[in-house]
Amino acid sequence: MSKRQEEIIEIIKASGPITGKQIAEKLSLSRAALRPDLAILTMAGTIDARPRVGYYLSMNASPPPFVRGTVQKPVSEYKAHPIVVQASASVYDAIVQLFLEDVGTLYVVDESGHLAGVISRKDLLRASIGTRSPEEIPVSIIMTRMPNIVMIGQDETLLEAARKMMEFQIDSLPVVKEVDKTTHTYSVVGRITKTTIVKAYLEIAGL
Ligand code: ADP
Repeated sequence: MSKRQEEIIEIIKASGPITGKQIAEKLSLSRAALRPDLAILTMAGTIDARPRVGYYLSMNASPPPFVRGTVQKPVSEYKAHPIVVQASASVYDAIVQLFLEDVGTLYVVDESGHLAGVISRKDLLRASIGTRSPEEIPVSIIMTRMPNIVMIGQDETLLEAARKMMEFQIDSLPVVKEVDKTTHTYSVVGRITKTTIVKAYLEIAGL
């Protein structure tokens, strides 16, 4: 793709639908000079045009190969070790664990080792300013609990993981394996964080 074609896509991305005339003005070019590039991008399926509406980004446009390569990797290839605490552990213990393991989120498991909850930094901060005895409060009281936990399966892709974290505004996802369909129980086999996604991008880009 030429530099000018990339510029056209950026303009359409930011301002589409937009007419050919407006794109030409933004690039300080004549409409005629722009025509071949618009034709190429339309034929390639990257952009579409509608009469009297203008050009817009095609929904079928595939992401560039680099992005495709990154986001379609399975979660299993990038997941990190999950850091878990028992539901009976105290807020104090959880804070210590957070520092010892250098993580931002802990996963809480019940006596059978099944996923029961999630605890973030802010959950622990909130609990700490609300009490003088964090060693007496069990994490099970303050955690975000099942069935409200957003999870990801091993075979899902990094794209799906990234989308879930953005949609639910959370920093991490437990990677789970279903233990029992009827009781909706899961074991935690890993974690995916926003850092995982950034790391994958850099690695695949060879940076
Ligand atoms: P922080 O609270 O430190 O900014 P998050 O943004 O990840 O970290 O967490 C925001 C809230 O969402 C917290 O209350 C936390 O318990 C909850 N949370 C974090 N991860 C998940 C998850 N995977 N599923 C459901 N809730 C979560």
